[in-house]
Amino acid sequence: MKTRAIAIAITLACTTLGAPSGAAAENGGREAAPSGESPSVATDIRIGGDDKQTRFVVDLSRKIDITAFMLADPYRVVVDLPRTTFKLPANTGVQARGLVKAFRYGLIMQGGSRIVLDTKAPVRLEKSFVIDAAEGQPARFVLDLVATDRASFMRNITLANRSAQQSASARPSDAPPKVEGDARPLIVIDPGHGGIDNGAKGTGGELEKDVVLAFALTLREKLEAQGKYRVAMTRSEDEFIALGERVRFARSRNAALFVSVHADALPKREGLAEGATVYTLSENASDAEAARLAETENKADVIAGVDLTAEPDDVANILVDLAQRETKTFSMQFARTVVEELKSAARLHKHPLKSAGFKVLLAPDVPSVLVELGYMSTKDDLKQLTSANWRARTAQALAQAVDAYFTPRVAGAGGRN
Ligand SMILES: [Zn+2]
Repeated sequence: MKTRAIAIAITLACTTLGAPSGAAAENGGREAAPSGESPSVATDIRIGGDDKQTRFVVDLSRKIDITAFMLADPYRVVVDLPRTTFKLPANTGVQARGLVKAFRYGLIMQGGSRIVLDTKAPVRLEKSFVIDAAEGQPARFVLDLVATDRASFMRNITLANRSAQQSASARPSDAPPKVEGDARPLIVIDPGHGGIDNGAKGTGGELEKDVVLAFALTLREKLEAQGKYRVAMTRSEDEFIALGERVRFARSRNAALFVSVHADALPKREGLAEGATVYTLSENASDAEAARLAETENKADVIAGVDLTAEPDDVANILVDLAQRETKTFSMQFARTVVEELKSAARLHKHPLKSAGFKVLLAPDVPSVLVELGYMSTKDDLKQLTSANWRARTAQALAQAVDAYFTPRVAGAGGRN
């Protein structure tokens, strides 16, 4: 079921020396710091108050423009700010206080930063302001949240949504960087999660977003070393990219193959599982674990505070479209090849080939697979996932699978024919 989320941008008045207060709205607050100016640093976050009224304060190294909006189901307050360095203790954001259940922060698309607050109940943003450093106090921004009822919350954000849609800035150009005369197939590597979205967590605090980025960078190296493929990555740093954006990235560049890289964690009650699994897209999950995983991975946008109402609701059409194309067959062929090649390099899950409704695999014209490298929640898997040796070996096997897929079938070898 599609989450109904409605959003609104409220540009906060924070004019300095007559600078237009609409500056943040024009670029969605996502523009990197002007050249020569280093990013502002968030040094402390404090929450005070109770279940009726809660104040959220962020200390900053200098004053910045911020944009705040709210989303429903689940209730969230989203604050967009220019690229900001968060120098905060680990585990900041997990403690509930007042109306705030938890919060996250990190880089988001196009070089801006974002803070997402999960609230316990519908809230109203009563006040929000940014203050300059003064009298020994650092610059800071303050949000005052007040409890409200659902009807008022929905009314507020619906009204605000209308004006936000009118002023919504255009999406940055999807036009792919054309490489003249380079006819080599383009492989898009998609490291899962990033920035504000950590993904799964290992027992020692290891984060899926870091594990999969390290793997993806190694995979790029191995593929480029073969010399036969061009490689592009949906992200090559610790930043969040929305699921639809990842799909668009591959489609707009006419990718020949899309490989999303993840590392799962199993809830304790589900016992122990180990090894790598390769997923393809299907409307109906191949088993309950695949269904659970797709649901978890599809939550990335909710975690990062993406306005899902802005996403076209055409999943059903895409599935129909997909059925009419060869993409599905090619995805399956590639998935099987990956399993074959991984056998020698890595431990595989007891059912290594599965399918489920992953949003990131929805490109109707780009063969796509999602590789779960292993389980962050399983000790032995985690040891491998964080080992440079294992990474090199497994990335090499995956690069070989890519090559086998594109190489015309010879005497029983797998591959696209
Ligand atoms: Zn993941």
